[in-house]
Amino acid sequence: MLEPDVNVQRKMIVSNPATEQPLAVVEAWGADEVNAAVRLSKRAYPEWSKVSPSDRALLLRRLANLVTDNLEALARMETDNVGKPISDSRDEVAMVAEVFNFYAGAIDKFRGDTIPVAGGIDMTFNEPLGVVGAIVPWNFPIAITSWKVGPALACGNSIIVKPAELTPLSAVKLADLALDAGIPPGVFQVVPGHGQVAGSALVAHEDVAKIAFTGSSEVGRSIMAKASKTLKRVTLELGGKSSNIIFEDADLDKAASAAPMAVFGNAGQDCCARSRILIQRSIYDDFVDLLVAASAAIEVGDPLDEDTQMGPLISSDHLDRVKGFIDPLGESLEVIYQGASPGGPGHWFAPMLVSTSDPTNRVFQEEIFGPIACLIAFDDEEDAVRLANETCYGLSGSIWTRDGARALRMARSVASGNLSINSNSSVRVATPFGGMKQSGFGRELGLEALLSYSDVKNVFYSTS
Ligand code: NAD
Repeated sequence: MLEPDVNVQRKMIVSNPATEQPLAVVEAWGADEVNAAVRLSKRAYPEWSKVSPSDRALLLRRLANLVTDNLEALARMETDNVGKPISDSRDEVAMVAEVFNFYAGAIDKFRGDTIPVAGGIDMTFNEPLGVVGAIVPWNFPIAITSWKVGPALACGNSIIVKPAELTPLSAVKLADLALDAGIPPGVFQVVPGHGQVAGSALVAHEDVAKIAFTGSSEVGRSIMAKASKTLKRVTLELGGKSSNIIFEDADLDKAASAAPMAVFGNAGQDCCARSRILIQRSIYDDFVDLLVAASAAIEVGDPLDEDTQMGPLISSDHLDRVKGFIDPLGESLEVIYQGASPGGPGHWFAPMLVSTSDPTNRVFQEEIFGPIACLIAFDDEEDAVRLANETCYGLSGSIWTRDGARALRMARSVASGNLSINSNSSVRVATPFGGMKQSGFGRELGLEALLSYSDVKNVFYSTS
């Protein structure tokens, strides 16, 4: 049973955030079209689920090779549509190929168990779920699509992807490449459209067994509530407000040169952005000097320029939202640094450092999803843990110290799904990724993702 369409535009104009020029007009699918996609997916599923793991792996490897062959075109498409620097887009498309290769390599090793029990032999099988729905945000469109498609297809599910309204192009292209690779029609489909219409229809559909959602915590909550009506599985990869914790014994030059891109990368539109910078009081002033110098060195501008490190924000609405956090500047905030934006068209907001002594300030608490970092001083380890955990989110974060025991104590104490020590790294294809608290639940990537796209079936064989 689907909910009725809300009254929204049937055409989505997709544009370039750096030039504000239109790139494409995309048909926004309604509930009827999503319904038809689910029917096709349901028809394709039985045969696909019976393809042997090694043959599914072969097709995924072919898809990975086609992604690599088309790397430059896909990267250009992503840069034009999202405004991200071309070098970042190339890395993200290369990661897509790595994801498909990883799950191709993993799936024929994903085996059940035999468990000795009284009176017989007990066997477990990892069974696919059926038709899976994936709902994807606009900040890493092709990469996040692959994180869901790779393990879902490897396990033998069919999948329907609902890309974000602003960035549907690369998912559509990826589904075309999947057909070229020999993945049967209906196994991997894309339904472009609005969240409240196409997304909502996918979530409500009784023949969709799971929703893998990445997006805001607010929408995540509504999806979980709606999915409960059909008792669907959900995995929720949601927002973040991660801490970058700098101790006095850290390699300060290394930490300061890494910290700006840990929040200004992808123009701050990164769920893992380390947008709260916690600095030990004894080195606060020295570290701020290093941080300002490193922030001033960031190249902001034309995303197609090979040297560009930061492009524009995704849309004018989003730019207004980001500006709303600092205009007017709240009472307990001080501006430490603001870079210069390129002139001309585009939704530009230059890197900005602010400081506060009030950890309840909304700039220190809320996900801005833009290039604003908020600095705060802490006294000791206990104080750092308290500040790091005083947030409703728990997605990512970094700890910088030369004291290995302290690094591990901190890593065990900070409530976050992903942490890195003396590094900004958040996402690696072979390792699990996901959040705690309001950042959601479930893990993508790594071998863990295979568990979330399959069910364990237990079969008892009597030997009596
Ligand atoms: P969003 O929640 O507004 O939208 C995400 C997707 O959900 C889009 O495809 C949208 O169309 C769809 N959607 C919206 N309303 C819906 C509804 N009622 N039913 C079904 N689908 C619906 O998020 P966004 O603005 O596209 O992305 C930014 C957010 O995503 C940030 O909060 C960011 O932290 C989060 N994010 C999280 C991760 C992670 O892995 N944890 C990664 C990237 C982005």
